[in-house]
Amino acid sequence: MARIVKKFGGTSVATMERIAHVAGRVKASVDAGDEVVVVVSAMAGTTNQLVAWTREAGALHDAREYDAVVAAGEQITAGLMAIALQNLGVEARSWLGWQLGLHTDDVHGSARILAIDTDKLDARLAQGQVAVVAGFQGLGADARITTLGRGGSDTSAVALAAALGAVRCDIFTDVDGVYTADPRMVPHARKLSQITLEEMLELASGGAKVLQTRAVAMAMRYGVKLQVLTSFEDVPGTMLIEEKGLIEEKGVIEEKGDMEQNVINGIAYSDDEAKITLVAIDDAPGVAATLFGALADAHINVDMIVQTAASAPGKTDITFSLPRSDLARGLEVIGAIGDGITYQEILTAADVCKISVVGVAMRSQPGVAKLMFETLAEKGINIEVISTSEIKISVLIGTAYKELAVRSLHTAFGLDAECGD
Ligand code: ADP
Ligand code: ASP
Ligand code: MG
Repeated sequence: MARIVKKFGGTSVATMERIAHVAGRVKASVDAGDEVVVVVSAMAGTTNQLVAWTREAGALHDAREYDAVVAAGEQITAGLMAIALQNLGVEARSWLGWQLGLHTDDVHGSARILAIDTDKLDARLAQGQVAVVAGFQGLGADARITTLGRGGSDTSAVALAAALGAVRCDIFTDVDGVYTADPRMVPHARKLSQITLEEMLELASGGAKVLQTRAVAMAMRYGVKLQVLTSFEDVPGTMLIEEKGLIEEKGVIEEKGDMEQNVINGIAYSDDEAKITLVAIDDAPGVAATLFGALADAHINVDMIVQTAASAPGKTDITFSLPRSDLARGLEVIGAIGDGITYQEILTAADVCKISVVGVAMRSQPGVAKLMFETLAEKGINIEVISTSEIKISVLIGTAYKELAVRSLHTAFGLDAECGD
């Protein structure tokens, strides 16, 4: 008997028909002898609507009330899925974050999971009951409902798989796996049969929303076997693997004489970006610590940072990127530092996006940056900020060039599927 967590995203539960279809798939798994925990998202579009209503109700609304509203979508689908399963003769029960005991901190809107009580679920699973868990939500340290950040049902699913010792966590979404780039933007993108967790982590943090970044990080940390597939068809998806597995497989490929290996495995883009430049800020110890410390205290996630020499002596320019949705708050936080830092001028840009190329082979093969920058230059695309990790290069460019950049890089790195592939 295998214990499996199956997470169904918004499109998989978008209508009553889809919910009935998913219930049928879950029943087949139960009939085959599996112990199944189902994690559901809200119906596609519901969370966006709920978020829009909280904004309409009050631009600077209370984050605790934001969570009370936006967590509601998953409550509905959890109940409906349990009913659909019961209709098929499958014993099932819905579970909300607080009922389950999915404990989080009290950072409302992007809470982190602290612990999950598994006793109740374990007992129900042992009785042969399917647990249908409302994803995206938890019980905060302040005893109020919390949400885990957009796309957070993925993290609910992986956390449950880790806590319950499941053999696998299946993430069912509206594409049939992880592609070399967002298949909605790049028609020639190729489905990957497998990808390393490390690459997926970089792609997700680069904006590929097929998996939430924190879900991938959690799968890495707890060794959860993770798979991405579609609920619409019965076709193989993408397996997430440790790098060790890839090296073993490469060994096999090389023995077969096929040395051709992509340096880049995926390209991601992120629209939720903005840029702040502090012109002629003091070039002194502690300035960066004060600036970025204040932003961190406000839970603002700063991503790319560059510091350049300013023309005036003893001064420097600091440019950094942050989520566009945090731009206004970021400026407030900087304003509130007051005399803590002095600078001549503050510049902002909200019309930027981040493009990232990712591949573990980058560690051993040079020339990725050269090809990336040359490709962008050929298209006349100006690079505003660059950042790198061992297996990723990211650039900030004007939003108007997003599609052109992603598609050109996809071709330049040899990722395009052959016609009819
Ligand atoms: P769900 O509601 O099931 O969680 P999401 O919308 O969060 O689904 O994530 C799936 C979407 O991720 C796809 O529809 C696709 O447009 C997007 N996506 C972005 N990058 C990739 C990629 N590299 N591979 C597959 N899908 C991607
Ligand atoms: N419904 C939430 C969202 O749209 C969580 C999720 O789907 O993963 O962000
Ligand atoms: Mg998602």
